[in-house]
Amino acid sequence: MNTKSIVKLLSKLISCKSLTPEDDGCQKFIAEYLESLGFEIEFKKNGDVINLIARYGKDSPVFAYVGHTDVVPTGNLDKWISNPFELTEIDSKLYGRGTSDMKGSVACILISIKDFINSNKDFKGSLMVILTSDEEGPAQNGIKRLVNDGDLTKHNIDMCLIGEPSSKKVLGDTIKNGRRGSLSGKITIQGIQGHVAYPHNAMNPIHAFSPTLNDMVTKKYDKGNKYFPPTSFQISNLNSGVGASNIIPGQLTMDFNFRYSTETTCDKLMSDIHQIMDSSKLKYNIEWHHSGDPYLTVKKDLLNSCIKATKAVLDINPEITTDGGTSDGRFIAKICDQVVEFGLINESIHKINEHTTEKDLLNTTKVYSQILKNIFESA
Ligand SMILES: [Zn+2]
Repeated sequence: MNTKSIVKLLSKLISCKSLTPEDDGCQKFIAEYLESLGFEIEFKKNGDVINLIARYGKDSPVFAYVGHTDVVPTGNLDKWISNPFELTEIDSKLYGRGTSDMKGSVACILISIKDFINSNKDFKGSLMVILTSDEEGPAQNGIKRLVNDGDLTKHNIDMCLIGEPSSKKVLGDTIKNGRRGSLSGKITIQGIQGHVAYPHNAMNPIHAFSPTLNDMVTKKYDKGNKYFPPTSFQISNLNSGVGASNIIPGQLTMDFNFRYSTETTCDKLMSDIHQIMDSSKLKYNIEWHHSGDPYLTVKKDLLNSCIKATKAVLDINPEITTDGGTSDGRFIAKICDQVVEFGLINESIHKINEHTTEKDLLNTTKVYSQILKNIFESA
């Protein structure tokens, strides 16, 4: 393994203008690279999205690397220090769209897989690389579709490493072993509009709803666990009234969101809210929107391999968290009970002048190589 080969590979990937959901030849190039190492290649096209499923070996355990080749738009080109689609080194930083999120990680895994196969010809197990060009966009035709259509079922994946940029300040300071779920609701409460001087002819939904609202806010939905903070209930909008000071409003609407842990479920939270509402005797209606289940990796093999590798290569004790937005982990976790996210520093992702460094690329490659060794040595 040397820095030159990683940088060469990355500059090829950066030169593909793979603005989501475009792939612009990235996956074809990667497929040829993996094919030359002995991987079997399958492309799965869903609408305008291309997905790559590559596998080496037939035995278990099956280790899969999951990532994406699409990138977010560049923003104002004049503000870039260099052409975002040409990997450019300035003051020991490597600039380009996708360097951190996440073509850099893809380049690192490709090099570490090549090294691993070359020095462990007869290892017991299988390696997979699964890539989509629809992670930065609506994320409907990528990993979500592959999982829902059963395209990955036959592979019986045991462990899944997602190469998203998990590191915060220094490479390896953070590993993610899950993400919280998200459930939103819009509640509408019917009252009876009237004159403030004649309240007996009206029904004020603000007054009627107040105790119920307090019940919702003060309820402990769960206590969380070692990896998740307690489920949080947050109101984002509360509207009632027509603006006049002499009118009792006829309706109230409220938007709320749960960020929830693995100690509860989407169904349980919906029934919690309905229970509170039903005990109020209010006339109401709720529209629900569920954007993702939480996932958590409690089985230790992959997580331990990642922690051990980070300590060995970087001499750092990573924080294990479930924070941040959503990732493709929420989809793949439905078919695999070990999903861990580890990658480059996320400070410049989605920004103008996204960058990484040669040193971080080399170290990420070393960590990935060590993870592979840890997994297959103990298998
Ligand atoms: Zn990403």
